[in-house]
Amino acid sequence: MKLHEYQSKFLFRDFGIPIPAGQVAKTPAEARAIASQLGAPVVIKAQVHVGGRGKAGGVKLARDADEAHRYAADILGMEIKGLVVQQVLVDPAADIQQEIYLAITNDRSAGMPLIMSSIEGGMDIEELNRSRPEAIIRERIDPILGLNDFQTTHIASAMGMPRAHWRSFGSILRSLYRCYSESDAELAEINPLVITGGGELLAVDGKVIIDDNALYRQPKLAVQRDASGEPESESLAREAGISYIKLDGQIGCMVNGAGLAMTTMDMTKLYGDADNIGPANFLDIGGGASPAQVAAALRIILSDDKVRCVLINIFGGITRCDEVAAGILTACSEVKPNVPMVIRLQGTNASEGNAIISQAQIANIISAQTLTQAAQLAVAAAKERA
Ligand code: GDP
Ligand code: MN
Repeated sequence: MKLHEYQSKFLFRDFGIPIPAGQVAKTPAEARAIASQLGAPVVIKAQVHVGGRGKAGGVKLARDADEAHRYAADILGMEIKGLVVQQVLVDPAADIQQEIYLAITNDRSAGMPLIMSSIEGGMDIEELNRSRPEAIIRERIDPILGLNDFQTTHIASAMGMPRAHWRSFGSILRSLYRCYSESDAELAEINPLVITGGGELLAVDGKVIIDDNALYRQPKLAVQRDASGEPESESLAREAGISYIKLDGQIGCMVNGAGLAMTTMDMTKLYGDADNIGPANFLDIGGGASPAQVAAALRIILSDDKVRCVLINIFGGITRCDEVAAGILTACSEVKPNVPMVIRLQGTNASEGNAIISQAQIANIISAQTLTQAAQLAVAAAKERA
């Protein structure tokens, strides 16, 4: 789950990281009031879940309260990479001498948190990572040992941070690591962390992503979710407890088991790629899927208007195919799909399941025996409706 910039920075502040004393506005009038209270100049910053707001015109420096009003009016309602700006952060403008990049993320291959830091921070960190990866200092943290002072000193020195700032940099890095681990974050990023004209370090931008699997024990963070930028289908899936990721293809996949779900997606690509046909989603209905869950999954798949065919691929282990079949019938009577559905049931009670489906004589249902056959039939059906 992504936090907005203001949420990330307020979280940083709770861990002792210095941030500008800004506030959030939902209207230009509020922005003006905050600007007068803070004293100009201020920066008006779009709060949307995308990077590169600066380059997209979503970060503007206002010299007085009237200008704050005007820029807030420009930015509120603006669309950045498909997301509509509904709130802006009004921050006192920082006097920036130097922009630093500082982030902690998961290094999955090492199974450890990884610190990335560069003296050349700011707006082009992705470009820097491509062109001169050596300009980014990387240091792993052993989660048992924690972050040691020799590591923060090493990072500050290796990145070429002026010596005068090592102590406060070390303290910010330790706070960021505490924030990262205590918040169950996947990413805690400050870009830029600035050195001001007065020689202070200040977190001017923040981005935190919380591990969804840990939200149950992060209630204070969980309530901060802003789902407005999320596809409707993903919100529905989250509420139904179904693992679902929306993709760009035309074949809606309903599968049990993450591995089988990925294989099914690969198969639709294998046979559909030449015609630009592929999976519309990843969906794992989980083990022992109830009729209600099958119905929820079908509703989620069909809420994506790109879907031209549904491919149901179930391997019955603990899940019984006859129960899934009953679930599909319930789902069809509730959801009334208007696209063909290719159904493959294998494993426990498969013949009973297939019998239930064929006896129901629902229009638009195509039975398949093998996964190859199912994928080919689904691709053909999607192509026909192109
Ligand atoms: P991003 O583009 O979405 O990463 O948004 P940032 O918050 O990082 O802002 C982009 C850039 O705007 C920063 O790298 C700074 O160069 C500039 N900027 C942001 N806040 C301030 C500020 O308070 N003062 C000044 N002078 N520049 C700022
Ligand atoms: Mn930034």
